[in-house]
Amino acid sequence: MADHKFELPFWEGFTVAKSQREPGATRITLVPHEKQAAYCSGCGSSSERVHEHGWRTIRDLPILGDAVWLRVRLRRVRCVACGPRTERVSWIGRHARIIKKI
Ligand SMILES: [Zn+2]
Repeated sequence: MADHKFELPFWEGFTVAKSQREPGATRITLVPHEKQAAYCSGCGSSSERVHEHGWRTIRDLPILGDAVWLRVRLRRVRCVACGPRTERVSWIGRHARIIKKI
């Protein structure tokens, strides 16, 4: 698949920066929309104060029998109530599982 930006409805708030097909697997790199507010995963309040980014590898549901691996850029917010927290992402946990932290 060509390396270009496009948006799919599966990963709300994120843009596909890169996708790569290989036999039996699809690897997709997702980055947050620049204008998307980050929400605290603890209390759900939005935070303007993003202080770092990290990458997570997430296994999503297979597409047409191929494994789907997501490499997701997640922000960390400095929440007034909870302190530093990874941002909340609506679709993680619903159908995708975090495999490892990088
Ligand atoms: Zn919070």
